[in-house]
Amino acid sequence: MAKMSFTYGLSLFFMSVIPGAWRRTAAGAGLLAPDGSVAPTIFAEMSAAAARTGAINLGQGFPDEDGPAEVLAAAREAISRGMNQYPPGRGTPDLLDAISEHQRRFYGLDVDPSREVIVTAGATEALTATLLALIDSADDEVVVFEPYYDSYAAAVALAGARLRTVPLRAPDFQPDLERLAATVSDRTRIILINDPHNPTGAVFDREVLAEVVRLAELHDAIIVTDEVYEHLAFTGPHTPIATLPGAAERTLTISSAGKTFSATGWKIGWVHGPAELITAVLTVKQYLTYVNGSPFQPAIAVGLRLGDDFFAGAAATLAHKHEILGEGLRDAGFTVFAPQGGYFTVADASALGGADAAEFCRALPERAGVVAIPLTAFVSEAHRADYAGLVRFAACKRVEILEEAATRLVSSF
Ligand SMILES: *Cc1c(COP(=O)(O)O)cnc(C)c1O
Repeated sequence: MAKMSFTYGLSLFFMSVIPGAWRRTAAGAGLLAPDGSVAPTIFAEMSAAAARTGAINLGQGFPDEDGPAEVLAAAREAISRGMNQYPPGRGTPDLLDAISEHQRRFYGLDVDPSREVIVTAGATEALTATLLALIDSADDEVVVFEPYYDSYAAAVALAGARLRTVPLRAPDFQPDLERLAATVSDRTRIILINDPHNPTGAVFDREVLAEVVRLAELHDAIIVTDEVYEHLAFTGPHTPIATLPGAAERTLTISSAGKTFSATGWKIGWVHGPAELITAVLTVKQYLTYVNGSPFQPAIAVGLRLGDDFFAGAAATLAHKHEILGEGLRDAGFTVFAPQGGYFTVADASALGGADAAEFCRALPERAGVVAIPLTAFVSEAHRADYAGLVRFAACKRVEILEEAATRLVSSF
């Protein structure tokens, strides 16, 4: 009897306390489905639909071609040389040097490779470690532009902060500066920018960046910037917000090799900024992954030192792909918002009966043999209606695949 009640009590404890605590955190971060299982992301659902129907997958943003041969060869060579054990916690010294050289070469930024930069498991870990390190209390707020990359809201919730959003609206997806000023306050711990922007393809105007810096100074907030598409801007050279007057001392700049070198599976990212903030991020990062990608780190150092022709070519090639995709979408009857940077084109499907883009995207694989993602996947629940007709298409695929997708779309509508 006593034993039974002990067991009963124990199972109740495990059922209610431990899973309960986990559930609260995960539910707060939007990671749980209503039935309590791990919520499948729209990306997994749409990739499964692509596999089931043989549709062309323009949903998740990963290239279908390898990046530069020198970079791939350098990784093979590093494995052969025995670079297969834990690298140093901050990253291999050569990659830290290469990141510092890259920031000086392209932007004139001064980064001390020994104190002001660390290598991370992709931009995703850099971002999560930064939020976990810098959020002090549940009253801290993180201001982001909405729609936002899907990991932002989850990481802010896991860090225990409050997410405040400033909307980006078609056609140009630039934020309203008064709205931005009204959203940032003394409670704002971090203003989180993604430029060039996923999913909208916006490159933020200089006035927007300047206003972010002004507000961060005024309210003593930290700027965190996700620049994974820094080499995939189509309207001119990328401007890191850290290059604006007064910004560098309060900015953590995050980037990654995945998009630039078509190596999204390698997960080599980095974050640089003032030494004190980098130390704070490192204290968290060392207990998330500790280190990663030992043989990929020297390979990315090779990539970052490639000639200007590679970087210019990567942007031009992707811009051309967006044109092919955009033309197909327009011919099919979508309203297309031509992107200024990044992997994605956003289009309005309302004229094609796609006023509910989520439903439209669920039907699209069967109807047109193409997979895309509704923009509502990047929006908080309360704001979904504002983006209901918008669809995101990935352009980072081979030209013949994009042409085939365009043909399918035109003949289906
Ligand atoms: C792809 C992407 C990331 C993730 O980068 P990883 O290096 O793969 O972690 C982060 N932010 C944005 C905006 C992205 O599009």
